[in-house]
Amino acid sequence: MNSYPYEACGLLMGGDDGAVTKIIASSNLADHPTKNFEINPALILQYQKESRLGHDRILGHYHSHPDGQANPSARDQDNNHDTDLIWVIIQVTGGVALGMNAFATDPKSGQLTAIPLQAEKI
Ligand SMILES: [Zn+2]
Repeated sequence: MNSYPYEACGLLMGGDDGAVTKIIASSNLADHPTKNFEINPALILQYQKESRLGHDRILGHYHSHPDGQANPSARDQDNNHDTDLIWVIIQVTGGVALGMNAFATDPKSGQLTAIPLQAEKI
């Protein structure tokens, strides 16, 4: 990931079937981008507008954990405000992406909980 040692982040676009069709990279606008991420709100607004015109919508977002694990941090759990979104977290060690996990909000606990990632054969 070329944003290392900062957290990379961006949007996951897709249709109503839940399949991700496009990944939109964002700059990380967080004050401390080695420890946190903030997707550019102008990018979010732009893609929300496009989805109202019939394009794919924002299904979720991704961010990386430089030299961390592919699991939600306590801060991630606290910042989970839009509970409809899927979170993908990428483990990056020494600048190399080693794995990723996906999470959705458990309606009972309100916590980000692991969900299976499915990849289509290319
Ligand atoms: Zn995180």
